[in-house]
Amino acid sequence: MKNYVEGVTIMTQQGLPKQSTSYWRDSVALQEFPKLQEKIKVDVGIVGAGMTGITTAYLLAKQGLDVCLIEGNTIMNGTTGHTTAKITAQHGLIYDELISHFGIEHAQLYYEANNRAKNFIKQLVNEHKIDCQFTNEDAFLYTKSNEYVQKLENEYKAYEKLNIDGSLVDTVNLPFSVKSALKMKNQAYFHPIEYLNVLLNECKENGVQIYEQTRALNVEYTKHPTIITEDDHRIICRYVIQASHYPFYDGTGFYPVKMYADRAYIIAAKTKEKVTTGMYINAETPTRSIRPITIDGEEFLLFAGESHKTGQSDKPMMAHYNALYDFANKNFTVEQIPYRWSAQDLVTLDKVPYVGRVTKAQHNVFVATGFRKWGMTNSTNAALIFRDLIMDQENPYAEFFSPSRNIKANPSIKKFVTYNTDVAKHLIKGKLERPQEEIEHLQPNEACVTTVNGERAGVYKDTDGKIHIVDTTCSHMGCEVQWNNAENTWDCPCHGSRYTYTGNVLNGPAVKPLNKLELS
Ligand SMILES: Cc1cc2nc3c(=O)[nH]c(=O)nc-3n(C[C@H](O)[C@H](O)[C@H](O)COP(=O)(O)OP(=O)(O)OC[C@H]3O[C@@H](n4cnc5c(N)ncnc54)[C@H](O)[C@@H]3O)c2cc1C
Repeated sequence: MKNYVEGVTIMTQQGLPKQSTSYWRDSVALQEFPKLQEKIKVDVGIVGAGMTGITTAYLLAKQGLDVCLIEGNTIMNGTTGHTTAKITAQHGLIYDELISHFGIEHAQLYYEANNRAKNFIKQLVNEHKIDCQFTNEDAFLYTKSNEYVQKLENEYKAYEKLNIDGSLVDTVNLPFSVKSALKMKNQAYFHPIEYLNVLLNECKENGVQIYEQTRALNVEYTKHPTIITEDDHRIICRYVIQASHYPFYDGTGFYPVKMYADRAYIIAAKTKEKVTTGMYINAETPTRSIRPITIDGEEFLLFAGESHKTGQSDKPMMAHYNALYDFANKNFTVEQIPYRWSAQDLVTLDKVPYVGRVTKAQHNVFVATGFRKWGMTNSTNAALIFRDLIMDQENPYAEFFSPSRNIKANPSIKKFVTYNTDVAKHLIKGKLERPQEEIEHLQPNEACVTTVNGERAGVYKDTDGKIHIVDTTCSHMGCEVQWNNAENTWDCPCHGSRYTYTGNVLNGPAVKPLNKLELS
C-alpha cells in the first residue's frame, strides 16, 4: 500500500488525506498491458476494462469467442476502481417506485436480475476461490427523518409484493438511533479489484487480448462493425460492446439527453466504534452510505455520499469530503482517515440501466450504462445479458433493460428533463467572459480560469510550480469545464466529461483531450 503509512499519512484540514487515492486501487499491484499497435480482427471487441467490460470478456471467452478488451487509460481505474463495492439488490428507495411506474412484473424483473447477479458474483468467488473480502451481510436502508418513515413502509410493502426477503426494524447496529430501517437479507460486499483481477487472469488464460492506453474514438457501423482507436488502428469485429461507462459511440441513440452524470465521495475511516454486522445507507438526502472494510488486517469503515451533478456544485468540491468527515465524526469517534476518493456514475431517465443494442437498428453494437451507483450487480447483469444476446440464448431480463424500451410512461421524466435542460445554460455560460485572473498569484496546487492569448483558459500550477494551461472548451459539445479542487481535474457541467489538469480524458462522453495552450 503506497499512500497509507500509519501516523505519517499527509493530512489536510480536518484530518483528510491531501491526495485523493482509492484504497481498492492502492492495495493491489495490477499487471500492465501494452497499447494496441496494429489492425486486428476478433469476434467481440469490448471497450472499457471496468466491472462491466471484464465480466463480459470473462463470460464470452468462456464461450470460445475470440475477444479483445481495450482500455483508454489503465484497467479498473474508472468508477469500478472508486466504488463502495456493496453487492446488493437493495438500491435505495426503488421497488415501490418501479411498481408504480412499470407494474409488479417489471419491478420483479429488476429485482430478480440484480439478485441473480449478486448470486452469480458469489458463485464465481467460490468457483475460483477468490480471496476478495467477500462477506455476506444484511443490507439496511435507514432513516433519521419522520418524513421518510412512511416511504420505508411503502418500500417494505413493495418487498412483500415482490417476495423480497426483508423486514422493517427500528434499531440497527450503528452508534446512533434511527426512526426506522428496512432490512434486505443476505446481501454482500467485497474488494472489487481483487475479484476482477482473478477474472482478468481467467480472461488471459482463455485467450482474451488486452490493451491499455488504447482509446476508442468511434465505431464504423457496417456488417463487421469496426472500432477506430485514437491512434487510428482498427479492430474489426462481429460484435462491439461499449463497456466504457458512458457510450463513446452514440449511434443516434441520443444518450446525452437520456442520462446525466452524478458524482459522490468516499472516505475510509478508522473509528473507535466498530460496525460488526450489516451495511447501511440512508433513504433521505444527503446520502450517507456505510460499510465495513479491512485495511491491513484492521477494521475500518467506508463513509460515502454527498452526490451532485458532475461539474455543478453549490460549494467547492473539497467541502463534500469535509461534510462526510463531519458526519463520521459526529456519529463515531474517528481515529484516522487514510484514504479519500470520489467518482461518478450515470443516471437514466427512468432509473433503470440501458443494457443492450445501442439502437434498435444496430444489431451488433451494444451498450451498458446508467447504473445509478448500483453497478456491482447491474454490470454483472449486463454481462450476462450480453453473453445471452450474442450466443442467441433466451434472457428473461434483456427486453426490460433494453435502451430501446418504451420509457414514455414514466412520470419522473418531467423532473429529469428539467434537471437535464441546464445543459443549454452551461453551453452558453462563460462563452463571452474573458476573465482576467493573474496567473502569477496562483499558489502551487491552485487553478484559475483566465484569458490567455485572447482565449478563455484553465490554468493549474502544480506542486513543483509548473504551469499547465488548457482551453476550457469541452471537446464533447463545447461547454465550459469547471475546476474540481478535490481531484485536480477539469469537469464538464453538461454531460460529465472529466479531464486531468493537462487536459487528458478521464471520463466520457468526451474522447478527445482539451486543447493545450501556451503562454505567448
Ligand atoms: C461513489 C460511488 C460509489 C458506488 N458504490 C457502489 C456500491 O456500493 N455498489 C454498487 O453496486 N455500485 C456502486 N457504485 C456504482 C459502480 O461502482 C459502477 O456502476 C460500476 O463500477 C461501473 O462499472 P463500469 O465497468 O460500467 O464502468 P467503469 O468502471 O467506469 O469502466 C469503464 C472503463 O472504460 C474506460 N473507457 C471509457 N471510455 C473509453 C474509450 N472511449 N475507449 C477506451 N476505454 C474507455 C474507462 O477508462 C474505464 O476504465 C458506486 C459508484 C460511485 C460513483
